[in-house]
Amino acid sequence: MIKVKLLDYTPEPERVVAMAARLCYSASGAEELSERLDDNKVREMVRKMVRIGHGSTLEHASFTFGIEGVSRVLTHQLVRHRIASYDQQSQRYVAAHGFQYITPPSIAEKPAAKARYEALMEEIRAVYDELTEMGVPKEDARYVLANATETKILVTMNARSLMHFFNLRCCNRAQWEIREMAYKMLAEVKKVAPTLFFNAGASCVNTGRCPEGEMTCGRLQEMLKLREKD
Ligand SMILES: Cc1cc2nc3c(=O)[nH]c(=O)nc-3n(C[C@H](O)[C@H](O)[C@H](O)COP(=O)(O)OP(=O)(O)OC[C@H]3O[C@@H](n4cnc5c(N)ncnc54)[C@H](O)[C@@H]3O)c2cc1C
Repeated sequence: MIKVKLLDYTPEPERVVAMAARLCYSASGAEELSERLDDNKVREMVRKMVRIGHGSTLEHASFTFGIEGVSRVLTHQLVRHRIASYDQQSQRYVAAHGFQYITPPSIAEKPAAKARYEALMEEIRAVYDELTEMGVPKEDARYVLANATETKILVTMNARSLMHFFNLRCCNRAQWEIREMAYKMLAEVKKVAPTLFFNAGASCVNTGRCPEGEMTCGRLQEMLKLREKD
């Protein structure tokens, strides 16, 4: 099962965004930025920054997630998002004897496919063990490991980059595994910064329109029901 834990984040992320906005749009000096900035004013300013797309103000709030129970397929997709920082469990230093693996639902639901898949994973485990017993270093034995191999990764993104990530990866066109993880990340950040991530999610939920053209999932009306009223 995919585990997503919000490990750390900028203290008072929405207040920081509001302070950045205030610096831009008022004559306030640095020391006055948080003065007269009550919770209502913070919400109002954050909402405005998100609505008008003043994305640089969102970059001052960062969120760090610990992620487990995901495949190397997922992490390969995740690390394509360049505006982020990552650390991933090493297959050079951490032995993969008896490695765990992710089974896609489309395989799990077909008994014959599942049996074939599990037999292959057993075979890979055996070959990995044999290679390391022959003195092959872990960093080379790992070449036999499957994309399905379970891994752990730590990721930090700022709010602007996260919004973009949610646009792409909460979309029904994203693969099921990274989409499931993206929704868990979204649920975590909404708990601590609900105004900042108001209507964050797939592009259609975020903006009210689908950018996928002929590749659309065709479920726009259903997705639009997820939009919160402004
Ligand atoms: C449904 C789906 C299918 C995909 N299929 C494929 C595939 O078949 N093959 C494949 O290789 N990838 C594929 N990808 C990955 C995709 O191409 C991106 O690499 C990935 O989604 C990261 O997005 P990004 O580059 O926008 O994000 P980030 O790397 O976080 O960048 C964020 C934004 O910063 C700007 N930016 C970052 N770097 C640069 C730069 N060097 N120059 C200019 N602007 C920059 C861009 O505006 C970019 O959108 C797929 C992604 C999705 C969601």
